[in-house]
Amino acid sequence: MAEQFFEMLWDCGQCATHGLLGKTQRHCPMCGAAQDPAKRYFPEEGKEVEVMGHHFVGADWRCTYCDAPNSAAAAFCVGCGGPKDGARNVALVQEATNASSPTPASPPPAAPLAAGTQTTSTRSGGFPWLKSLMALLMVAASVVAYLFFSTHDETAQVAEKSWSREIDVEQFTAVRSSEWCDALPSGAYQVSRSREQRSIRQVADGQDCHDVRTDKGDGTFSKTRECSTRYRDEPVYDDKCSFRINRWQVVRTARADGGASLAPAWPTPGISNNLLATNTLGAERLGNGRENYRVQLQSSQGKRWSCDLNPGEWETLPQGKSVTLKVRGTGGADCSTLAIAP
Ligand SMILES: [Zn+2]
Ligand SMILES: [Zn+2]
Repeated sequence: MAEQFFEMLWDCGQCATHGLLGKTQRHCPMCGAAQDPAKRYFPEEGKEVEVMGHHFVGADWRCTYCDAPNSAAAAFCVGCGGPKDGARNVALVQEATNASSPTPASPPPAAPLAAGTQTTSTRSGGFPWLKSLMALLMVAASVVAYLFFSTHDETAQVAEKSWSREIDVEQFTAVRSSEWCDALPSGAYQVSRSREQRSIRQVADGQDCHDVRTDKGDGTFSKTRECSTRYRDEPVYDDKCSFRINRWQVVRTARADGGASLAPAWPTPGISNNLLATNTLGAERLGNGRENYRVQLQSSQGKRWSCDLNPGEWETLPQGKSVTLKVRGTGGADCSTLAIAP
């Protein structure tokens, strides 16, 4: 499509005639004054006058001697006959942004930005309490850091020892579950399907268009249509599968515990259908086990800490023994520093 051109408008500064045509009327028809290219402006939308058969040769140059705008093709001024040499092009008019047809955001002018910077500096200078608050926060932060990271030595006695051991009992059980049907696990049965929303996709839904008007500098402007695709969310449905599947499930946990006087031992839970070695519904087996070995420590001032140890450390640490350890500013013991007192 060929580029379309339309008349820029201008107002006569001599006789106050409004809405003169930028391309066709180089002089005011009322008083004869030359067009001032600095007074060109875009017409209201809907009142645009197209320049038919216009051949754009470049922005006008402004006569150095009489200020009249001249076509880029002219070598001498139509007003005074002065030469083009050294003349500058007329300044281009930027269209003001209006709400009904959004134009791409232009970078913010320098002035408001500078004003913003100034406001900020005035603020920090004008609010000394802000500095005090910052200082206070720094102090608070270092107190917290001190409480967490500073330690001191304590001496304590092993007041109590305890252990516990747990074993899960698992049963081969039919459980209900659901998955997207493309990830149906093998072994699933009694499968039923339903349609459910799985995701959202973006679907093209028409276009948002607006005209962009550009001052060509020769008394005309061109119009181009800029469009962007609009999108909407559309749900994506898929098959959801509900099913039963046989799995080993923890059905109960057996626990044994004791103190220093009882040697640690694993609990021996009763298991039903013990002879059913294969995967038969109702069969049971032993699952995961967990063990814990703990000592309670008490200082001569009555402060208490508890530490979880590994079985070997726990075994070799007799009840009543004196130990040393590091304690944090918050009061918590660093159990990795626990050692038998010299
Ligand atoms: Zn006039
Ligand atoms: Zn001139």
